[in-house]
Amino acid sequence: MSKEFVAEPDLQFTKDLIAAGAGDLKKCYQCATCSVACRIAPDNRPYPRKEMIWGQWGLKDRLLNDPDVWLCHQCNDCSTQCPRGAKPGDVLKAVRKMNIQKHSWPRFLGTLVGEPSLFVAAIGIPIVVVLLLVYISGWTFPEGPITYSGHHLGEGFIWVRLIQVVFTAALVFAVVSMVISLKSYWNSLETNNPVLEGGPRRDFIPSLIEALKEILPHTTFKECEANNIRYAAHLMAFWGMIGLLVTTAIVAFNFDILGLKPPSLSGPGTVPIKILGNVSAIAFIVGLGIMLVRRMTAPDQAGNSSYFDWLFLFFIFGTGVTGLLTQLVRWAGSAPGAYSLYTIHLMFVLALLLYLPFSKFAHIGYRTVAIAWSKSAGRDIKLGVEPNYAPPAAVEQAEPQG
Ligand code: SF4
Ligand code: SF4
Repeated sequence: MSKEFVAEPDLQFTKDLIAAGAGDLKKCYQCATCSVACRIAPDNRPYPRKEMIWGQWGLKDRLLNDPDVWLCHQCNDCSTQCPRGAKPGDVLKAVRKMNIQKHSWPRFLGTLVGEPSLFVAAIGIPIVVVLLLVYISGWTFPEGPITYSGHHLGEGFIWVRLIQVVFTAALVFAVVSMVISLKSYWNSLETNNPVLEGGPRRDFIPSLIEALKEILPHTTFKECEANNIRYAAHLMAFWGMIGLLVTTAIVAFNFDILGLKPPSLSGPGTVPIKILGNVSAIAFIVGLGIMLVRRMTAPDQAGNSSYFDWLFLFFIFGTGVTGLLTQLVRWAGSAPGAYSLYTIHLMFVLALLLYLPFSKFAHIGYRTVAIAWSKSAGRDIKLGVEPNYAPPAAVEQAEPQG
């Protein structure tokens, strides 16, 4: 006999979900085509059909503590086949945004990054900070060869010590904030989806390793059909970003620890670093460019884009493009252009760093945690194993099985 279930709908949550990008949620009539269409949802308790009804019913706790929303890779196979145009891919994306905002620490920064009305404030902070650095450094374009930064005040355009202090502080803040936010998310999964006695339960580290084995080569992503090009584009952007981080770390090490000058365009010893940096930047920009063009030209397959998506793309694309341009303009020998672009580049980098745990960028962390948690609870995506956990107030009537 089925257990009794008393739904406690939070209608405001449904409205918030719709405002977050799930505009067609109410069109769903529970036919389950989407769950069949999704090539990566496990056979047992597949998504996204159950999430659609939870959203319509305003079951906030159920939806915000559902690890499955992060197992979805936004390929939109489900949305393209939905007979009602309810766009389940967009609904899951909206839930993910709400997840990031819910666990953001400090919370107000989650709100700052997620609300279109706060756009000016969001971009205003990095602009003011970087202009302050330029001002302290002398507020002038130095004579002679274009030198973006120097070890001593007045040596280059911006005193490097200022950049080190501010950007290191921003990075430390972002890392601490991300760790606290992800810990909160993990705890929330543990509390609200109690793992059942006697079932498989892996420890965190082995689960994380399993998750990374899937994430680094994007193996699950590859399964998607409707928006298959997104797999290649996302892979390029992902590894391009890692290449850029490695390049930055090497340059910072050479500059700060070894006291070397940043690689110039003529230094022979810096060729491998430059190749890595430039190839990574190109991969990053091409990958992002493909995703951007798809969003604008094929929204049916790429999904609708919300302010949250656009802001992230704005910061990340701006960082990549201005980074490449600063090199090209320096090459061309235009000091005003090079210094102006460098200033804008620093603004983008600072915005990216500061807002890393609150913007869509945070999906890297949340998805990794959710996949690791699912593996630790025995829900193996590939094998379609029965999940070994019980969502809050889990009952058969409220739990569509297909
Ligand atoms: S395909 Fe999924 S989202 Fe579309 S109507 Fe059917 S159950 Fe709802
Ligand atoms: S967007 Fe793709 S991965 Fe996500 S639920 Fe739909 S079909 Fe599955």
